[in-house]
Amino acid sequence: MNEAERLATLFEKFPGIGPRQARRFVYFLLKSGGEYRSNLNSAISDLANNIHKCDSCQRYYANSNGPKCGICSNTARDPKQLLIIEKDADLDSVEKSGAYSGYYFVLGGRVKLTDSSGKLPNEQLLKKLIQNSQDLEEIILAMPTTTEGEHTAQTIITALKPIADERNITITMLGRGLSTGAELEYADSLTLKSALESRN
Ligand SMILES: [Zn+2]
Repeated sequence: MNEAERLATLFEKFPGIGPRQARRFVYFLLKSGGEYRSNLNSAISDLANNIHKCDSCQRYYANSNGPKCGICSNTARDPKQLLIIEKDADLDSVEKSGAYSGYYFVLGGRVKLTDSSGKLPNEQLLKKLIQNSQDLEEIILAMPTTTEGEHTAQTIITALKPIADERNITITMLGRGLSTGAELEYADSLTLKSALESRN
């Protein structure tokens, strides 16, 4: 494998990128000047050095003041609510809508329909966070309205039911407003607001 093929193979791992697009990226880099390539190089190295994963909600954040992100270390937020979301981009959309003021947990993936083990990503970290959230009254599941999203929501409910029952925590889901097949990342603020208000 030559250098161009090796890089193309790495690009193919990106979400939504196929072999043809991966090759276009490589040709683009070959055509770009050395300055652009070295900028890209250092941006990638800096990413690992400066962006951290929050100990509490598992989102990525740029700050090294502590092990928790700005949301989790903000004591003015509502400790009664925890919203479970698939990925960072979804969290950004909900946060931008301004309709939610509780805390978050980023699952970091979905449960595949083909995965019969039904293993939840980050399950132990999620349970630990719930154990440590003394004032928690409600867990809101904000999964995409796809078959896989619903399957993931059901898996979360099964995993959390014992602790929710024991602690008298309600588990709710986003309500109307989100059309079937919707990815939260692309939902507009008004839709997210209405889905949060009509949760059930
Ligand atoms: Zn956090």
